[in-house]
Amino acid sequence: MPTDADHAAQSETFTPPSLEQAAQFGITWDPSVHGDSGYIQSSYPHYIYPQNSESHPVVRSSAHSLTDGAENFQDAMRSLGIAQSRDQAGSAIGTFWSPNSIDPHNQTRSSARSGYFDGFAGRANLHALTSRHVTRLLTAPAAGKGKGVRITGVEYVEYGQERTKHVVHARCEYILSAGTVHSPQLLQLSGIGPKKLLDEFEIPVVVDLPGVGENFQDRRWPPSLTKDSG
Ligand SMILES: Cc1cc2nc3c(=O)[nH]c(=O)nc-3n(C[C@H](O)[C@H](O)[C@H](O)COP(=O)(O)OP(=O)(O)OC[C@H]3O[C@@H](n4cnc5c(N)ncnc54)[C@H](O)[C@@H]3O)c2cc1C
Repeated sequence: MPTDADHAAQSETFTPPSLEQAAQFGITWDPSVHGDSGYIQSSYPHYIYPQNSESHPVVRSSAHSLTDGAENFQDAMRSLGIAQSRDQAGSAIGTFWSPNSIDPHNQTRSSARSGYFDGFAGRANLHALTSRHVTRLLTAPAAGKGKGVRITGVEYVEYGQERTKHVVHARCEYILSAGTVHSPQLLQLSGIGPKKLLDEFEIPVVVDLPGVGENFQDRRWPPSLTKDSG
C-alpha cells in the first residue's frame, strides 16, 4: 500500500543542489526518496546566506569562500551527538537541509495553484468554485458489512449567502484538503469524530472515531540570529 512518503514523492519534481552548493553548505540527499515527474517543484534556493554554511574543510581553504570562520549549526549539533540525516524525506530525525517548494528555473514558489491550476485553468472539464465555504460532507453507508461510510456529496455555502446550502456530487472521488485544522473539523461537522465531542454539539454520529482532531502537535521552530561584530 502506498505510504504518505510515496504520495509526496509522486507529487514532486526534485532538483538537487549544485555540487558546489552541496559542498559549501553540507547538503546531502537521497534520490531514491524523491519524485522526478510531479507537478510541485522541490529544490534549493540559488542563494543561501553564508552564515548558514557548513565549515567543510574544502570550503574553509577556498580563496573564494564567503564562509571562513562562520559559525556552523551542523557542527554544533554534531558536537552534541546529533547526527545529520542524509535526507529528511527518508528520515526526519537529526539535522538536515530541507528542500523548498521552489521552481529551480525561475526561483518562484511552486504551489498547488502553480502546479495544479494555472496550467490547466483553460480546460473545459475543470470547474473551480471560489468564495465558497464547505459546511459538511454528506455520507452514506458503504456497500458491504463493516465497510464504514462513503462520501456522497459536499455541502457548501456561498459567502454573503450563508443561509442557502448547495451540494455538489462527484462521479469519481472526493479529496478533502482543508488543511491541518479544518480537515478534521469538517470530518467532525460531518459526524465523523469522537462521539463525546459530537454529542456536545448535537452532531449526529456517523462514525465514532476518537482520533479525529486529536494529537495535533506543532513542531518547534527555534530561529537563530547572528551578528557579525567584525
Ligand atoms: C506559519 C506557517 C509557516 C509555514 N511554513 C512552511 C514552509 O516554510 N515550508 C513548508 O513546506 N511548509 C510550511 N508550512 C506548512 C504548509 O503551509 C502546509 O503544510 C501546507 O500549506 C498544507 O497544504 P494543504 O493544501 O494541505 O492545506 P492548506 O494550505 O492549509 O490549504 C487548505 C485550504 O482549505 C481552505 N479551507 C479550510 N476550510 C475550508 C472550508 N470549510 N471550506 C472551504 N475551504 C476551506 C483554507 O482556506 C485553505 O485555503 C507552514 C505553515 C504555517 C502555518
